Amino acid sequence: MNPLTVVTGGSRGIGAATVRQLAAAGHDVVFCYQRDSAAADAVLRDVHAAGRQGRAVRADTTDPEQVARLFDTAAELGEPTGLVNNAGTTSPIGPFTDLTLADLRRVVDVNLIGYVLCAQQAARRFASGGAIVNVSSAAATLGSPGEYVHYAAVKAATDTLTVGLAKELGPRNIRVNAVSPGIIDTEIHTVSGLPDRAAQVGAQTPLGRPGQPDEVAAAIVWLLSDAASYTSGAVLRVAGGR
Ligand code: NAP
Repeated sequence: MNPLTVVTGGSRGIGAATVRQLAAAGHDVVFCYQRDSAAADAVLRDVHAAGRQGRAVRADTTDPEQVARLFDTAAELGEPTGLVNNAGTTSPIGPFTDLTLADLRRVVDVNLIGYVLCAQQAARRFASGGAIVNVSSAAATLGSPGEYVHYAAVKAATDTLTVGLAKELGPRNIRVNAVSPGIIDTEIHTVSGLPDRAAQVGAQTPLGRPGQPDEVAAAIVWLLSDAASYTSGAVLRVAGGR
């Protein structure tokens, strides 16, 4: 039987690359997105073209009822065994003193509360074991001074969520890991106010370039696979040496 995996934020960027690679690796995939239904439809077409079952669900991961509906939709296809907690956002780059309460709350809501709500659904529903991958960020250890310290702090919480859940859910044969991307060439940087940020910051990394979404997706797909069967509680950095 094919594995069935839920991916949050699968319409663009790292999430879309992950959905496509999972389908190519034989997963059926149910993914959510928030706004961009045209992008979601394009990703879903590729899932079907790979010969796999899929669903694209408009669901905001910060809303418990919408998260439950996402997992209910997955249950229509079978018993899910994988979750990629990926839907994330940032806020405009700037000094810590300029951070608004609304931006702080949004970053905590999407990047932490959303991840917890989805992991909770997975933990309740993965009756025969499974694997969760949380998409963190290298910012968790870099701190992102002068840019978005609050985002970095929330990503550090993602790493702790990963370590704690790996210990709590391990006895139920649910592995929990994280990937920590460095600077990746996606549209998230438009939110930060610097659309060409990936090229600028990427040039300063040891590998001299930003990463591509597929390079992160490959690590996620490996962590979900049987090849990673004894890997749990790991935070795998995919950051070009940064
Ligand atoms: P992206 O290109 O902006 O894509 C974000 C995806 O998440 C979109 O599919 C978006 O859907 C969806 N999304 C956002 N908020 C959502 C919500 N509340 N509910 C449901 N879906 C939501 O972002 P990305 O760069 O691929 O980032 C993916 C993850 O990697 C994030 O957790 C981010 O923090 C992390 N990361 C990124 C980088 C980087 O340099 N790109 C580096 C380190 C870590 P809609 O477009 O439909 O709203």
